[in-house]
Amino acid sequence: MSSIITVDGPVASGKGTVARQVAEALGFHLLDSGAIYRAHALACLSRKINFNEIKILEEQAQALSLKFIGETIWLDGADATAEVRSEAIGLAASTLSAIPEVRAALLQRQRDFAVAPGLVADGRDMGTIVFPNASLKIYLTATAHVRAERRARQIAKQHVAYKAAQRLAAGETMSAKQLIDKGKSPTIMSLLETIRAHVPDEVEDTLRRDVEAMIRRRDSQDKSRAIAPLKPALDAIVIDNAEHSPSETVNVVLSLWKLRSAAL
Ligand code: C5P
Repeated sequence: MSSIITVDGPVASGKGTVARQVAEALGFHLLDSGAIYRAHALACLSRKINFNEIKILEEQAQALSLKFIGETIWLDGADATAEVRSEAIGLAASTLSAIPEVRAALLQRQRDFAVAPGLVADGRDMGTIVFPNASLKIYLTATAHVRAERRARQIAKQHVAYKAAQRLAAGETMSAKQLIDKGKSPTIMSLLETIRAHVPDEVEDTLRRDVEAMIRRRDSQDKSRAIAPLKPALDAIVIDNAEHSPSETVNVVLSLWKLRSAAL
C-alpha cells in the first residue's frame, strides 16, 4: 500500500497529536506504535516478568492481547489507557524496546495496520524500519526544554483535575477515576474543565524540571540503542515545531501530503 505517512520524533514532540489529526483529516487509519511498546511493558510489569528473561519477554510480545478502540487502549480485555500513558510505563517501554527480540516480535503487528485507504504511523522507527517505503516521512522535533514544558503542563492539569475529582466524588458511588474515564457526570466533567484552566504555575515549574530530566533520559536511551535508534530517515522532512501550534504543523503535513500524493 502506497498511502503511508510516517511521523517519527522524540518524547512530547507532538507526533501523537499531529498523526491523529492528519489521519482524521485524510480518513486514514492510525498506528500509535509507542502504545504497543507501552502495552507490552505494562503486561510484562503486571506479570512480574524479569527484564533479563529475553525469551519470556519475546513470548509476551507475541501473545500481547491488545486492542485500540478510538483513544481507549484495551489490554487483556480491560481499559488500560491511563496506565499505558504514564511516564513510568514510557520509561519501561524505552528499556524493553531496546531488546531486538521484542522489536522483532512486534514488527508484523505494526505492519498489519497498513490497510486501505491509508495509514498515518507515529513512533521512533516508522520511517526507518517499519515502513521504509512510506510515501511521506516526517520527523518532528523541538528542544528538550520546550517538550518538557508541554508535557509538564499536561501532567499538572491531569493531576490537579484528578485530585479535585477525588474530592468532588467523595460520597459518590462511582470512583473519581471512573468518573473521569467514563465522563458519566456532566457536572463533574464541566467542573474539571474549569479546574484544568487554572493550574498553578508553581506546580508546572517543579514538574517541568523533573519531566525534562525524564525526557532527556528517555531520548538518550532511544537514540543510543543499537537497534532501530531514534533518528530521521534519510528521506524524512524534519520539522522543528517549537514555535508552531499542533494545527499549524498538521496543515504543513497535509500540504506536503497533497503535493506528494499528486505525484504517486
Ligand atoms: O512514543 P511513546 O512515548 O509512546 O513511546 C514509548 C517508548 O516506546 C519510547 O520511548 C521508545 O523507546 C519506544 N518506541 C520504540 N519504537 C517505536 C515507538 C516507541 O522503540 N516505534
